[in-house]
Amino acid sequence: MARALSDSSARILILERGDFVPQEDDNWNPASVWRDLRYRATERWLDEHDREFQPYMHYGVGGNTKYWGSVLYRLRREDFQALEHVDGMSPAWPIDYDTLAPYYDRAEALYHVHGQHGVDPTEPPRGPFPHPPIPHAPAVAAIVDRLRAQGLHPSHLPLALIQPGTPGGCVLCSTCNSYPCRIHAKGEADVCGVRPALERPNVTLWTNARARRLFTDPSGKRVEAVEVERDGRVERVAAPIVIVSCGAVNSAALLLRSGSDKHPSGLANSSGLVGRRYMAHLATMMEGFHPFRVNDTVFQKTVAINDYYFRGPNSDYPLGHIQSQGRTFGIMAKVVGDHMIPGIPLWAYNAWVARGVDWLVMSEDLPDPDNRVTVSNDGRIRLNYRPSNVRAHEQLVRETTRILKQLGFWKVMTHSHGNRNTTHQCGTLCFGTDPATSVLDPFCRTHDVENLFVVDASFFPSSAAVNPALTIIAQALRVADHVKQAWARA
Ligand SMILES: Cc1cc2nc3c(=O)[nH]c(=O)nc-3n(C[C@H](O)[C@H](O)[C@H](O)COP(=O)(O)OP(=O)(O)OC[C@H]3O[C@@H](n4cnc5c(N)ncnc54)[C@H](O)[C@@H]3O)c2cc1C
Ligand code: SF4
Repeated sequence: MARALSDSSARILILERGDFVPQEDDNWNPASVWRDLRYRATERWLDEHDREFQPYMHYGVGGNTKYWGSVLYRLRREDFQALEHVDGMSPAWPIDYDTLAPYYDRAEALYHVHGQHGVDPTEPPRGPFPHPPIPHAPAVAAIVDRLRAQGLHPSHLPLALIQPGTPGGCVLCSTCNSYPCRIHAKGEADVCGVRPALERPNVTLWTNARARRLFTDPSGKRVEAVEVERDGRVERVAAPIVIVSCGAVNSAALLLRSGSDKHPSGLANSSGLVGRRYMAHLATMMEGFHPFRVNDTVFQKTVAINDYYFRGPNSDYPLGHIQSQGRTFGIMAKVVGDHMIPGIPLWAYNAWVARGVDWLVMSEDLPDPDNRVTVSNDGRIRLNYRPSNVRAHEQLVRETTRILKQLGFWKVMTHSHGNRNTTHQCGTLCFGTDPATSVLDPFCRTHDVENLFVVDASFFPSSAAVNPALTIIAQALRVADHVKQAWARA
């Protein structure tokens, strides 16, 4: 959003609660990232039983994109329409695929996405990717051949990597997904969004500046100021337009903390939907294990299987998406939640994961008003969440197990962060045309407050089953165009 607006005459101030992520050896150190949680937000949230947990979140310039696996998918054309799932309906979006398609093109170019069109059976209409696909490593290529022999249609994952294989570019290492890139070769929001925006004289960034609440004018119809805690001091910043982009959970929390006489249940909450319909994907990590096959792949995250996206082999309802995953390190397997499994030595884990091939399977989570973000009396975030569509996900895990067994793996292991996996959070301020059933309009402006926009994962009315971020970026570019046109008219 900041980058897209930076070529306008507006003076832009970005408030970021964290700091720049340092470029250091720890960036690529599995023990620092997985055991010491060096970059993880230290904040604790509450669950529905008021038990504390540490969310899988990162605060800093670039947000969670610094740590992402760089898989930048477009939603499928059908994801924008109502879609029946085994456990209920996935609602329609107020915009269709064709509306977002030109912004997907721009988003892919901005984030250096590599891919191959025309192979994935669920792919929406599109032209070629800005960059060719990342070649599969030999072991992955062999798996792809054997998947095709099973009658499946594996395709290249769309990946945001900057100039792979060229001097100074991405080196296709084994520490990408969940790690910051030591050499800034990942297409992410710090490198592709904030830093280029800061090259313009009209853009300013305050780091360590946390937005605490928003204040409106006496009519309650316009935001006048943001209260900011910056390096321990509290101050107010006034602006004619405020764009909230704190991530789905924190944006909802910010609006809930900004209640007033005119907005007694939270800012822009006349629908009562602020914080509700929280979604996260149902996600399971899977590993195919073969005791006599050492996997020498370094960059493994290149292949996807979408054959069961809209229906399973034995069911008429959507199951979801399967993608290969970055390499697992022994330390990652040894750490569960916030503790290390005792008894089994690290070398045993290393020997195990060296013989594994890693996968991630994801199913759509359906919106439920009872799955919601609230703020406790002392201002802490509380997340009430019970995943939906569990039957579809369990079936996807079973089908993936069958596929991996057919590939010759002796054993298939599964692991899930369960309800506490906040990485693909979305949906807490859904967009729509009706102010009674949505918080944001189709351009992500709040229905209730005329100069307040929310541009992040909050606006999703449904979660779909592919990774969310390209859609967040594309919609941000669309909203930026809209804001610039509105300025030009004013
Ligand atoms: C390990 C990991 C892997 C992932 N892999 C992928 C992937 O491969 N593909 C994909 O599409 N998605 C992936 N995701 C998800 C993706 O990162 C998110 O969907 C995306 O970052 C959401 O963008 P956002 O703008 O909504 O929020 P965020 O990226 O969370 O950004 C919010 C920003 O706001 C700041 N902030 C929060 N509150 C305040 C406040 N009160 N005041 C000031 N600043 C504030 C935060 O510090 C942060 O910089 C992954 C996420 C993780 C954690
Ligand atoms: S070098 Fe490439 S693969 Fe390694 S972390 Fe950076 S972007 Fe990811």
